[in-house]
Amino acid sequence: MKIERIEAIPYSIPYAKPLKFASGQVTEADHVLIRVHTDEGIVGTADTPPRPYTYGETQDSIVSVVTKIFAPAVVGLDPMDRQKIHAILSRTIHNQTAKGGLDIALWDIIGQAANAPVSSLLGGYTDAMDVSHMLGFQPAQKLLDEALRFRSDYGINTFKLKVGRRPLALDIEACHVLREGLGQDTELYLDANRGWTANEAMEVLRQTDGLGLSLLEEPCDAKEAMSRRRLVDKSPIPVVGDESVPTAGDVSRELLSGGCNAISIKTARSGFTEAQQILGLCTGLGVDVVMGNQIDTQIGTVATVTFGAAHEATSRRAGELSNFLDMSDDLLAEPLVIKDGKISVRQVPGVGAAIDEAKLAQYRQDNK
Ligand SMILES: [Mg+2]
Repeated sequence: MKIERIEAIPYSIPYAKPLKFASGQVTEADHVLIRVHTDEGIVGTADTPPRPYTYGETQDSIVSVVTKIFAPAVVGLDPMDRQKIHAILSRTIHNQTAKGGLDIALWDIIGQAANAPVSSLLGGYTDAMDVSHMLGFQPAQKLLDEALRFRSDYGINTFKLKVGRRPLALDIEACHVLREGLGQDTELYLDANRGWTANEAMEVLRQTDGLGLSLLEEPCDAKEAMSRRRLVDKSPIPVVGDESVPTAGDVSRELLSGGCNAISIKTARSGFTEAQQILGLCTGLGVDVVMGNQIDTQIGTVATVTFGAAHEATSRRAGELSNFLDMSDDLLAEPLVIKDGKISVRQVPGVGAAIDEAKLAQYRQDNK
């Protein structure tokens, strides 16, 4: 089997409810759909979400690097030869989601060729993942209303609260209101997207002591090495690296230097191949992982479930899988369902990301 051509299709779908957080705001899913075509008619599909404020990639840059740099170098290769392809992709630095999308599309081809779900090929640990829902910036009472609604509508009982605001009292109040309103049996954790200094994060930990928060993600910029290490050392809960650790090399550096002691794995920026390398590092060192969300569409979420359910360590915690609910529409032909707080692995060959072609025609940006 040979890679015949690669499409990178820019598309845009508005959010019904924009997500606001410390490092940015998302009002439209202006993503790129990657399709890797083979000479045997099998097509691998993946979604790439540009996050300009986090990784510097844009919709245009993803289309450009995929079609002008990566595609010419890998067309003609066998999609099974992932290491050969990765050796070529890694000659170009950064461009994490472009590389991640290509990797997932290759795995989708391999699963379809083997007539097996990719989740089984990756590890086959379980057939569903618990869902964690992400709460963006809103007044405390609105946050609680949303959490209660998601708990009753979808059975979701784990919530990640976006924090990193100033004055700190805004987020501290939100933590107290959520804990009081949700009770002790709901998992609550924080993600500051580098919005605070390490000392501010320490102050928030002091003022939320006793609330049973489980994780603190990216409290400050990991480059502020000295204060960050002090925070990680003193924090009573694990400090999760997210945007500071997009690659396996970054994960090694941050864990070994004490910049974090838990890791967010995101298939959108690691693909499945590097995500497995990251997972191996974490399990080898005894470090907790959480399956993170790159504000994914349903296509991206299918990929996260595929990887997360495949391994014991990634399915232990609830994965961040519900952001697609805030979108006004999606490209996936068969919509995802959250039931009893879980999303099931698709028991179909490949990743299970069949596209609704009419919707793609409606939302694509390259035919206007
Ligand atoms: Mg994060």
